[in-house]
Amino acid sequence: MVNRRSETIRFGSCYCRAVTFRVTGEPLRVGICHCADCRKTSGSAFSAYAVWPVSTLEQTGQVNTYGKRSFCVTCGSRVTFVSDDEAEVMLGSLDVVPSDLTPQYELWTGRRENWLHPLPEAQQFDHDRQPPAAVSETAPAERSALRKQA
Ligand SMILES: [Zn+2]
Ligand SMILES: [Zn+2]
Repeated sequence: MVNRRSETIRFGSCYCRAVTFRVTGEPLRVGICHCADCRKTSGSAFSAYAVWPVSTLEQTGQVNTYGKRSFCVTCGSRVTFVSDDEAEVMLGSLDVVPSDLTPQYELWTGRRENWLHPLPEAQQFDHDRQPPAAVSETAPAERSALRKQA
């Protein structure tokens, strides 16, 4: 893979570090989601993620997948969620903390925990993002939320 030197490369890994990945360039978008799928699959109150074109992802190590969510076979940590054209990365799997990525939008706000407040400057959506185009432009997490809603 050819990386222009000016492009940012972010590294990520699972908890035990058997799985590592990198994404090159800036993400297409960064979001937070409170939907049921994000809660269950993360085991947390919400998920924070960023989405890159899948062509910018390089990953090593053994994973299993459930749906399109992949996780380390040793430690079970979520790593990437790869669809046909996009790779969603949980912000918590990135190696540099804090990450320099700030969510631009927040989904399924009706499921937000009462002790959390809307992120200032993040676009708020009751359910999924309403992109101008079709479902093919929604993030994998948003797509699974759509599925659930249907
Ligand atoms: Zn692991
Ligand atoms: Zn979600």
